[in-house]
Amino acid sequence: MPDLDFKVIFWGVRGTRAVPGEDTLIYGGNTSCVQVQAGETVLILDGGTGLANLGMQLAAESAKPLELHLFFSHFHWDHIQGFPFFLPAYNRDNRLLLYGEAKGQASFASLLGGLMSAPYFPLPFDGLPARKDLREIKPGQALELAAGLTVKTARNNHPGGCLSFRIEYAGKSCCYCTDTEHYPGRVDAVLREFVRETDLLIYDANYTDAQYLGTDGGRSRAGWGHSTWQEGIRLAEAAGVGKLVLFHHDPLRGDRELASIEEEAQKTLPDCIAAREGLSVSLSPY
Ligand SMILES: [Zn+2]
Ligand SMILES: [Zn+2]
Repeated sequence: MPDLDFKVIFWGVRGTRAVPGEDTLIYGGNTSCVQVQAGETVLILDGGTGLANLGMQLAAESAKPLELHLFFSHFHWDHIQGFPFFLPAYNRDNRLLLYGEAKGQASFASLLGGLMSAPYFPLPFDGLPARKDLREIKPGQALELAAGLTVKTARNNHPGGCLSFRIEYAGKSCCYCTDTEHYPGRVDAVLREFVRETDLLIYDANYTDAQYLGTDGGRSRAGWGHSTWQEGIRLAEAAGVGKLVLFHHDPLRGDRELASIEEEAQKTLPDCIAAREGLSVSLSPY
């Protein structure tokens, strides 16, 4: 019988920059990194600072060589900074399958390698001992990683472009849609179809509606490439989503404020939670 274990574990839930400190002890201060376990296959969505802790855990718990699929939504710092510190990359027995977009004339390989180029890091990308297979991807693709395990991609509305991922396995699915700005007054039609009837939607809830519109006394964040927790609810309702996970928390949002947003969101959508480091959500069909 195939291994139908399907779960999502959060290692970094912040946007923009890492924020360690006493205000982020509950939800966590590391930037975007999500592990998806689908049967025997390990997928990692983004390599923010949370990736370093995930790497240590993977290296510690496995006695045999690792084969890991790392998907990069885009190359903003909060989604890549953990990669040079990813311990499994330092073991020659491991294999990393790395997926990301080219940007203009810059290939995915040059973008990923550039993050470890001198003088920013002492070891070049090519010096990492693990076997590395780089695969350039685009929006609108469907990749079959293993029997019955598919990853689909879609284009987000974000400066410089960004990809959403939909992972389907064992009759269930989860969608990772972060770093995307909505269109005020209407639900994003591309994302609505992309996430339709998914069991779990991880969504860019960087702002509140009031922050986004500038009605909180600050300036409007329209055009900055991010969405709101209220828009997450609108999208989830329009697309018949099972569970909504608010993600990519603003670095200035402390634990108390996040807890009150979570409480407020649950009044409209009871099956909604704010992502926190260490959170594990099972999608297993049993
Ligand atoms: Zn981000
Ligand atoms: Zn971004």
